[in-house]
Amino acid sequence: MNCANHPQSPIAAYCRTCGKPLCTNCTRPVMGVIYCENCLAERVGEVVAQPLDAIGRETIVTTSIGIVVVGRSPEASAEDLLRDADAAMYKAKERGRSRYEFFDDAIRDLGIPVIKTLRVAETLPDTHAAPNAAWLLFDTYDERRAGGTGRRFDWSLLATYERSKLFFLSGGIDPDNVVAAISLVRPDAIDLSSGVESAPGVKDHDKIARLFERVRRE
Ligand SMILES: [Zn+2]
Ligand SMILES: [Zn+2]
Repeated sequence: MNCANHPQSPIAAYCRTCGKPLCTNCTRPVMGVIYCENCLAERVGEVVAQPLDAIGRETIVTTSIGIVVVGRSPEASAEDLLRDADAAMYKAKERGRSRYEFFDDAIRDLGIPVIKTLRVAETLPDTHAAPNAAWLLFDTYDERRAGGTGRRFDWSLLATYERSKLFFLSGGIDPDNVVAAISLVRPDAIDLSSGVESAPGVKDHDKIARLFERVRRE
């Protein structure tokens, strides 16, 4: 018998949880245990669903997970894989909280980017500019930099957005203003990026913990 994902490859192991037969391309032991891709996604979801301790308070985080199976496209670069996993993650997020989704041709056909960044200056940009995008991300316009400015734009501009698509609020969101951001703008998701980095590109765990605490208290 050969692998369902890789018809050329013989079966080398079986998923610990569901017993699905797997070839060597499909078997990536996690802490010494072999899971199929679905059971691995379930395991990740279970682990993440455990309450975590954020500065002495029990905090529950929900995650959406995007998965791309490396063995199916051996020529893909690391950037390709991350982009595809991202696309699957947005798809999972659309289905609700704590879901996972595998990247496949249907997601590819959505047209990437599935997330369209719109930079907001004095007025709201054209929200119909990217009909293929599943999500919009509103970020602060900066003439010198593309993204990650760390400054917020005038959120009241979003009052006129008709919410035809799910959207991220981004730009200058930090532990001090996240509650206001959620209650004023009611975004579908928040992009934290620079607001919780102590230096560009470095996520600051204290800031993230403070932010979760603010959200939780609300
Ligand atoms: Zn399994
Ligand atoms: Zn396989």
